[in-house]
Amino acid sequence: MDTRLRAALALAEQGRHVFLLGRTKRPMANCPPCRTAGPRHDRESCACLTCHGFYAATTDPHRIAAMLTGHPAGLLAIRTGTVSGLLVVDIDPRNGGRLDLALMAPTATVATGGDGWHLHYAHPGGPTAAKLTGCPGVDLKGDGGYVVAPPSIHPGTRRPYRWVGDWPVNEMPPPLVAACRPAPATAVPPSTRATPTLTGGEGISSPAALLQAHLAAVARAPEGRRRTTLYGAARGIARMVAAGALTTTDAHTALTDAGRSAGQADRDIRAAILGGFRAENVATEGIAA
Ligand SMILES: [Zn+2]
Ligand SMILES: [Zn+2]
Repeated sequence: MDTRLRAALALAEQGRHVFLLGRTKRPMANCPPCRTAGPRHDRESCACLTCHGFYAATTDPHRIAAMLTGHPAGLLAIRTGTVSGLLVVDIDPRNGGRLDLALMAPTATVATGGDGWHLHYAHPGGPTAAKLTGCPGVDLKGDGGYVVAPPSIHPGTRRPYRWVGDWPVNEMPPPLVAACRPAPATAVPPSTRATPTLTGGEGISSPAALLQAHLAAVARAPEGRRRTTLYGAARGIARMVAAGALTTTDAHTALTDAGRSAGQADRDIRAAILGGFRAENVATEGIAA
């Protein structure tokens, strides 16, 4: 089996959704029907193997094999965000990015072909910013993003992306999670709160999709991470409640169902939800005792 296919299947097995970029690291061109399809065309469910950039990402081994066979020069890439359970810290030394070992705990790490580093962390749930607070040259790849994966060759330097060390994908330490959060919204006048303007990250523009992403993260969380994932989802959904996208009662019901189907005890679920809402300064009335 060729190394690119082996790498793709190994990532898919860990729940990472993979797709191909063109050899210049740009998304591949859409096929003519997708190019001319109207705005109603659903990129997420489109059956094409390589149209719509990261929306084509999959964990289906048959689709992956077909995709790779059809595009021998394509660069393997991972769709980041809750869909893959990944938040990647992207350190670009050319823009002043530095590995900060005090902040960035060891985790699965890729040395990029461009002298940078990709630190693959378990997605903490909830909204994340595009850049790491206080760290110039360090981007965050979460919902709506992607990263090139080994064994792709960097088109500029002709050097491969490669895994260094053998750390698993670890959880972010709390100070790093804090540095990943978007800057707190400056006090929103109550009159504008009724209209939800939710942008949980590029690529997620509808409240329904954002809610779904939070709940999917809870359902997928491996044992040992379930409580923190539910807490992260509760914080994210609390923000949606604050923005008027759904009621506290509906949020509570959705989170409780997701927690129960992930095998969590009601007492833990309630504690995570209350904790998440309080952390976001969102009223907890309506959360049933
Ligand atoms: Zn297409
Ligand atoms: Zn399409």
